[in-house]
Amino acid sequence: AGVKLEESDPTAVSLGYREDTRKVDDKKYPKHAASQNCGGCQLFQGTPQAATAGCPLFAGKQVANGGWCSAWVKKA
Ligand code: SF4
Repeated sequence: AGVKLEESDPTAVSLGYREDTRKVDDKKYPKHAASQNCGGCQLFQGTPQAATAGCPLFAGKQVANGGWCSAWVKKA
């Protein structure tokens, strides 16, 4: 549970979090690919289908399944 993580949250800004992975600035984050999203990230605390879930980098907040940040790690 928790409130939705806003893109304007200072930690979200520093990690380049976007609610829509397709809107990530690939010039700023050259390792980003549109196939990467929170739902496929090791740190996503919900099922791969969950619309939103917690993320340890944003305590008490819910990140979007289709979102992305620069700490993305492919789910093992
Ligand atoms: Fe999404 Fe992973 Fe970044 Fe958390 S660490 S916001 S789950 S991409």
